[in-house]
Amino acid sequence: MREGGRDSTPGSDNAAGSNGPVLEPPVPWRGTLLPLAFVFIALIALVVVPLALMERSRSTWREIVDVAEPADVQVDAIEYALVREVAAIRAFLITGDSVFLDRYTRARAEETRAYAPLGVLARRLGGDVPARARMLRTAVMRWHRHVATLLPAAGHMAPAAATDVRLATQEAIYRDALDALVSLDHSIDGAVEVRRARIRADERLEMALTLVLVATALGAAIVVARLGVRLVQMTEHAERRRREVEALTESRARLIRGLGHDLKNPLGVIQNYVVLLESGIKGAVPPAQREVLGRIRRLTGDSLGLVNDLGDLFRAEAGQLTISPGRVDVVETVRDALEENRPAAEAAGLRIGLEPHTAVPAVETDGGRVREILGNLISNAIKYTPAGGEVSASIEVGADGRAPRPGRWIAVGITDTGPGIPADQRERIFDEFQRFGAGAGHAPGTGLGLAISRSIARLLGGDITVESEVGRGSTFTLWLPLERK
Ligand code: ADP
Repeated sequence: MREGGRDSTPGSDNAAGSNGPVLEPPVPWRGTLLPLAFVFIALIALVVVPLALMERSRSTWREIVDVAEPADVQVDAIEYALVREVAAIRAFLITGDSVFLDRYTRARAEETRAYAPLGVLARRLGGDVPARARMLRTAVMRWHRHVATLLPAAGHMAPAAATDVRLATQEAIYRDALDALVSLDHSIDGAVEVRRARIRADERLEMALTLVLVATALGAAIVVARLGVRLVQMTEHAERRRREVEALTESRARLIRGLGHDLKNPLGVIQNYVVLLESGIKGAVPPAQREVLGRIRRLTGDSLGLVNDLGDLFRAEAGQLTISPGRVDVVETVRDALEENRPAAEAAGLRIGLEPHTAVPAVETDGGRVREILGNLISNAIKYTPAGGEVSASIEVGADGRAPRPGRWIAVGITDTGPGIPADQRERIFDEFQRFGAGAGHAPGTGLGLAISRSIARLLGGDITVESEVGRGSTFTLWLPLERK
């Protein structure tokens, strides 16, 4: 019945039905992951953002120290050279002494040397500094051109009055050069001021960000702390509930054990008396009374079965079923279970047998319990399959895609050609007292067999699943782990 679609996923579960209420364990990371990620990011930002801002301030400072200040030095050098040039030219014009001409030439050479670094520094400073530097260059070139007009005539200097006129012109051109120099100086100061303002803004931003991030981290820490407290409360609550459920299960098991004990004896005695009466030892029994006695016997038998089943179920729920592990030959166990049920199958007009299978290793499990489960599955298959049908067992070894959990399993399937189980019933039938269709009244039973079987299978580390197709039959699979943990 593989094609019937698998509907009973182990562990998916009716555990609440057959194994008592199961409390979802709290998953601590689910609620705290987001705030934790937030705290993590906030902490990273707390470190990274101020560092980035500090780095930016440092590089701005470097610009001031490495660019603006050297630019100032070059401007000062040019100014100093110009002052020396004008003094030398004046002295030369007045005295005609070539010593002054040499001084002029040296000062001019120093001045010229300053332009190359100044040009580079001005470009790095940006803003209007490069334009001002060019203007300075133009003004100074005018000055030099003017000086050049004076020099050829220097050897034949005019009288003092004529020299004064020349000096006045020269003074004006020189002043223009100085003005250009001052203007460049201001513009360098302006560039420095822009950078200082940027540093101050960065520092303010750094402070504000640090405050915001500290507040955020604080907030997140509070949230995480509150979540932690909540988690502890939830865990305590869950633990309390678990203990309550355990106590409840145990007290139910005790009650059923007590009841079972108190009921079993009188029921057994009633049954014995009925058998005695039926046998005619106490006198001949008329046919009408014999029929009544037969009913009493059957009902008493059912009640005894129910008491036994309930006892088993609650022992399984309370984990009080004894498991006696040992090396078990699964093939032999399946064969035994089939043989035990063969008479019943044949009486019901059914074929019964084991399908061919590959080699099956021995497993560490409780053979008695396995036979108990298989007996229940086989007797159900016989009970619910109409005459002429078939009940077969199959054994598969290995990790199967249909397995309850990852791992290596032995899967024992009990397949019948019975009425099948509708999809909406496939999980419910593992609950206590759940019967439907033929099970609900027409066939004898208590609705406890599957609940007990699944509880035992889980105690063995395995499970039971069902696949079925209405009208074609069902396969109940007992999963036994190849390696027990
Ligand atoms: P019981 O057989 O005593 O009723 P179970 O727990 O063994 O109790 O089974 C619960 C119900 O599941 C049955 O009443 C029946 O309706 C259904 N069922 C179990 N096995 C089969 C099967 N092989 N084919 C069809 N229905 C089944």
